[in-house]
Amino acid sequence: MYDFTVINEALLTWYVTHARKLPWREQKDPYRVWVSEIMLQQTRVEVVKEYYLRFLKALPDVEHLAYASEEQLLKLWEGLGYYSRVRNMKKAAITILEEYEKKMPASYEQLQKLAGIGSYTAAAVASMAFQIPVAAVDGNLMRVAARLSADFSDTTSPRVKKEFENVLTRSMDKEHPGEWNQAMMDLGATVCIPGGRPRCEECPLRSFCTAFHDGCMQELPIKSKKTKQSRKDMTVLVFTCKELFAIQKRPDKGLLAGLWEFPVIEGHLTLSEIEECLGRYGTIAQIGLLGKARHVFSHVIWDMIGYKIEWDKPPDFMGHPADILQDKKMDLTKLIWKTKQEIEENYGVASALSAYKKQVWKDAIH
Ligand code: SF4
Repeated sequence: MYDFTVINEALLTWYVTHARKLPWREQKDPYRVWVSEIMLQQTRVEVVKEYYLRFLKALPDVEHLAYASEEQLLKLWEGLGYYSRVRNMKKAAITILEEYEKKMPASYEQLQKLAGIGSYTAAAVASMAFQIPVAAVDGNLMRVAARLSADFSDTTSPRVKKEFENVLTRSMDKEHPGEWNQAMMDLGATVCIPGGRPRCEECPLRSFCTAFHDGCMQELPIKSKKTKQSRKDMTVLVFTCKELFAIQKRPDKGLLAGLWEFPVIEGHLTLSEIEECLGRYGTIAQIGLLGKARHVFSHVIWDMIGYKIEWDKPPDFMGHPADILQDKKMDLTKLIWKTKQEIEENYGVASALSAYKKQVWKDAIH
């Protein structure tokens, strides 16, 4: 078994001069660490910085988060995806208020009982905010550890992840657990990088690295193939009427639950199909093709085609709840009409549709 304790001194020495300067590291505050870690599970560090600062400004502590409205949360999260994560944060914030006297619990085990907090996030908060020695094992740490020990186990296996969590927690520097985790994360993000050749010539752990010694760095970590995503053709209908756009709220359950969208329907509709189906509900001034776009979710890929449909006045879809487009199910009875500015300020439109939003915003006045 590889002895990970040998890396601690070199790792922490390297970290003193190479730590990334990140806004959530300025204070060792559990709420800040929590917010940043959940956001970092969604996207790149550079993107998170902006979201993080905006989120903290609007919701500076657990109490504000617990009382935030669904609309505000979705707006702050717009573009990050996986909206269930921010909904879980609110649930957890309510639990913290009710059961932990408004303070995040300083316990790795109790943190994991909060909604949406798994072993990684609990370890990150526990180690960085409370100096509790537990390794925060995410993709970065798994990669670095698999290479250091030249371990060819499948890192997507929960059993293997648990083993890495145990061995790294036993081996990490117990005096500086927060710094140790952050150092490993930074090393994984900037030196022992994924996809392609790691920068071993810059690595402070090179002399301890079995994969470097054996020349198999690029073969690691092992990840078994993910299940293939299914593909769906979708048509996006952007209804406009003068300076107004029509949006509707998606159902509370399922994909993009509770988010706002331009109406979306399964299948690729042709221009004449749209004209024939919708022309019954009002006078269409013009239909324009917005082109194709693709959005990749975790389990499904949407191959979209979009149309901009300009109406003389907002059509009346009332009384036609579910089958407006003949055999295709589409409920347009709950559409609301808003300006670009109103939508931007108050409604979190699903980022899956952002390609179309960008296109139609270009021509919008307000
Ligand atoms: Fe990663 Fe190379 Fe460093 Fe090994 S020597 S930990 S493979 S960067």
